[in-house]
Amino acid sequence: TTLPIRRALLSVSDKAGLTEFASFLAAQGVEILSTGGTAKAMRDAGIAVIDVADFTGFPEMLDGRVKTLHPKVHGGILGIRGNAEHEAAMKDHGIAPIDLVVVNLYPFEATVAKGADFDTCIENIDIGGPGMIRAAAKNHAAVTVVTDPEDYAAVKADMEANGGATTAALRTQLAAIAYARTAAYDAAISTWFAGQVSDEFPRRFAVGGRLKQTLRYGENPHQKAAFYVTGEDRPGIATAEQVQGKELSYNNLNDTDAAFELAAEFDEPAVAIIKHANPCGVAVGGDVVAAYQRALACDPVSAFGGIVALNRPIDAAAAEEITKIFTEVVIAPDADAEARAVFAAKKNLRLLLTGGMPDPAAPGVTFKNLSGGFLVQSRDNGRVMAADLKVVTQRQPSEQELRDMLIAFRICKHVKSNAIIYVKDGATVGIGAGQMSRVDSSRIASWKSAEAAKAQGLAQPQTVGSVVASDAFFPFADGLLAAAEAGATAVIQPGGSMRDDEVIKAADEKGLAMVMTGMRHFRH
Ligand code: 5GP
Repeated sequence: TTLPIRRALLSVSDKAGLTEFASFLAAQGVEILSTGGTAKAMRDAGIAVIDVADFTGFPEMLDGRVKTLHPKVHGGILGIRGNAEHEAAMKDHGIAPIDLVVVNLYPFEATVAKGADFDTCIENIDIGGPGMIRAAAKNHAAVTVVTDPEDYAAVKADMEANGGATTAALRTQLAAIAYARTAAYDAAISTWFAGQVSDEFPRRFAVGGRLKQTLRYGENPHQKAAFYVTGEDRPGIATAEQVQGKELSYNNLNDTDAAFELAAEFDEPAVAIIKHANPCGVAVGGDVVAAYQRALACDPVSAFGGIVALNRPIDAAAAEEITKIFTEVVIAPDADAEARAVFAAKKNLRLLLTGGMPDPAAPGVTFKNLSGGFLVQSRDNGRVMAADLKVVTQRQPSEQELRDMLIAFRICKHVKSNAIIYVKDGATVGIGAGQMSRVDSSRIASWKSAEAAKAQGLAQPQTVGSVVASDAFFPFADGLLAAAEAGATAVIQPGGSMRDDEVIKAADEKGLAMVMTGMRHFRH
């Protein structure tokens, strides 16, 4: 529902765009209430303003610490329109409704950034401003809240389009922005304050999360660490029940998360074995025991002391198989009583049960720290399907090659770039991860495969007759040629290189089938 704006309260520290916006409101016949400096700025521009002090009948006081903290202000913002009791109470107490709240806060962040002293920083903690913003956002069914001069234009446009009213859609959007603003503001205050009083670590609350567990140390023993949870309802590392075993370490948590998210990519039974957040073996299809054996066969040396994730409940046979070698962590949706008994005999093994699998296509965001800031991106929930593939070679891939290529490309997403993945019959047979050159990843994958074959007494490397996936395009034909030399018969890659033609020509010359996905899966 659109609601007309009749009365607005403007109280802003950042006065950019203020008088233009206020003139617009005045021209629309909106009654304007305001505080000291804001009121002065508008009066100087010839705009009629009512002081909040006159509106409340109570002076601004205590150096501005108390300006708008008054029932006439908060009642005017919070009262539910159309609610008989609220309207009666407002009438009894002479509270007039406030339909628009335009507040931006004392510049706390900028004050800290300037290196101001403790008392100055404290004085720049806004009290009344966040109160009004949060109240207006709560009552967004009726009230429009603006916390950033950047949004004046949107409010103006909405009012112009709706005869001086705003739409519910805009009010809701502005309420979401408002809470993000007050959250960021309080985060800045809490971060600064905690730094003033102690170097206590970990803190009970951190930005966006609640402390779940203080860890013995971080990635290395000289680093402190903690695990915070956000309360997101996603089966996985944050909500798993630890059935047995020692406390999880920082690296365990990181690796276990990577393992479980990878296993979650597949509908068929899948097993992923992870070391240092990269898989050293993944197998999809068949039963869980066979899948584990095939995942292990990819690189049994690296799998020692690894983390095993499954996307199916564990039974006794699977537990027996997994416990044949030393494994740090096992994570799965569930395990039956016999499986639990098998694991119980391995005191050091940590068993985590999640009760379900996360949706690999679910939205979400990921963060990465940079000095002085952080990067945010939507999580890589992109999933290439058979219909997305474009065959670019003379030879068409076989059904089996297609199936393996899709599996290989899905796995690429969970491997540090540059990622080269060889897959045969649903199982990885060579993994090249984290190299600065794509051709090196290709070579390492085939070399490791040859080593694994030797160690297992196989006549030839398992990459012979496999398919190969590359997380990003081949910039030159060399990476593809290395894969052909290792025995790959089909290639899946995003495409999009300047030299795609050269790479396609090389594939044709080698009799390879190649498909392009149009989607890249960098993981840095
Ligand atoms: P002005 O420049 O109008 O004097 O002050 C505007 C600033 O005061 C805004 O940043 C607003 O958030 C803040 N403010 C409004 N009401 C109160 C209050 O009751 N207490 C405090 N501490 N700040 C307030």
